[in-house]
Amino acid sequence: MIRDQEILDQLTDVISRFVRDRLVPMEAKVSEEDLIPESVINEMRELGLFGMTIPEAYGGMGLTMEEEVFVAFELGQTSPAFRSVFGTNNGIGSAAIVFDGTEDQKNRYLPEYASGRIIGSFCLTEPDVGSDSARVRTVAVKKGDTYIINGIKRFITNAPIAGTFTVMARTDPTEQGARGVSAFVVDANSEGIELGAPDKKMGQQGTQTCDVIFKDVSVPAANLIGGREGKGFFTAMKVLDRGRLHLAALAVGVAERLLEVSLNYAMERKQFGKPIAEHQLIQAMLADSKTEAYAARCMVLDAARKMDEGHKVNTEASCCKLFASEMVGRVADHAVQIHGGYGYITDYAVERLYRDVRLFRLYEGTSQIQQLIIARNLLKKRRGQSSESG
Ligand SMILES: Cc1cc2nc3c(=O)[nH]c(=O)nc-3n(C[C@H](O)[C@H](O)[C@H](O)COP(=O)(O)OP(=O)(O)OC[C@H]3O[C@@H](n4cnc5c(N)ncnc54)[C@H](O)[C@@H]3O)c2cc1C
Repeated sequence: MIRDQEILDQLTDVISRFVRDRLVPMEAKVSEEDLIPESVINEMRELGLFGMTIPEAYGGMGLTMEEEVFVAFELGQTSPAFRSVFGTNNGIGSAAIVFDGTEDQKNRYLPEYASGRIIGSFCLTEPDVGSDSARVRTVAVKKGDTYIINGIKRFITNAPIAGTFTVMARTDPTEQGARGVSAFVVDANSEGIELGAPDKKMGQQGTQTCDVIFKDVSVPAANLIGGREGKGFFTAMKVLDRGRLHLAALAVGVAERLLEVSLNYAMERKQFGKPIAEHQLIQAMLADSKTEAYAARCMVLDAARKMDEGHKVNTEASCCKLFASEMVGRVADHAVQIHGGYGYITDYAVERLYRDVRLFRLYEGTSQIQQLIIARNLLKKRRGQSSESG
């Protein structure tokens, strides 16, 4: 749903200019130094990028899912590392409170996230708990009006710059699955929190991830998200549904950038006496990339519109994440191929983007986990239909 086309066009224009004029020229430097300059982060704050999905009542833009998708198409035109800085505030780092927080939690934290004064991080993954995320081992034990949290969280995006962590911890030790998990918002400077060494990654340099270690961290009971135990895993899954659509849209944006760069290169580079773009085997790669990126664009928009209409889009969000993240991997591979040997050299953006997009198939649910979700939902629906007809 687009609330006001003119306002959305203005927003996407501003973001597109910021991406093209400010971010793209510094991609290589950020990648080399593994650092996004504070001055750029401040510009992101001034543009309101930290609060795009936070409701207007709490100082954000309150973008609908469809509007967010159009913004993500633009953000995908540059290195995904830039988006990561404000990505958690618009998604996994704030959404638990947006969806299920108490009014007090919303008033306290959402304006801080929207302005970018506080960066929110999301702590679900653990050393022994990845795809099977309902098995969270971090524990939160109630003592009077506080909870004491102990555990280790792994690969936490933005942990080194976070002001708060949304932490999934087990409050009911007798329940090993999802129902025993609760979500907490934890101030990052709480006593007992330690950060691990920064992770050295294959791509997306500039994005910071590390372990977050909780040792007897005392958290006020008022920070239990939604004020009820046992709801944390379900909150986390709602957060991830929206996040998956956002990531799928981002993947479309990167694929479109890769295609643009490849097309430019193919029209300039000459072999066998003519631009390589005139060789049909190169044209096949360009055509396949365009077709797949277009298909993913259509899917993501359709799912976003359904979500805005109030439909449950658990299956569609996983279809989009699965297809778009795999699609951009193939498009990046074609882009390197079209560039020949130059595609393997770090001076060329396609070499970096090829590594950057690999992550899309891994985080916020691997491709295999998306397949499992889609199949589980299909079977559930069919079984429901059979029991109705039987
Ligand atoms: C850069 C980066 C940033 C991240 N940011 C965050 C963050 O901010 N917050 C957070 O909580 N987490 C974060 N993660 C963690 C990420 O979500 C997990 O890495 C991901 O969910 C996979 O978990 P795992 O790495 O433990 O792999 P595993 O779960 O061990 O999976 C290993 C392989 O087994 C497959 N597999 C697992 N189970 C099945 C099954 N039932 N059937 C078939 N195949 C299966 C997987 O698909 C995968 O191929 C981040 C990870 C990275 C790399």
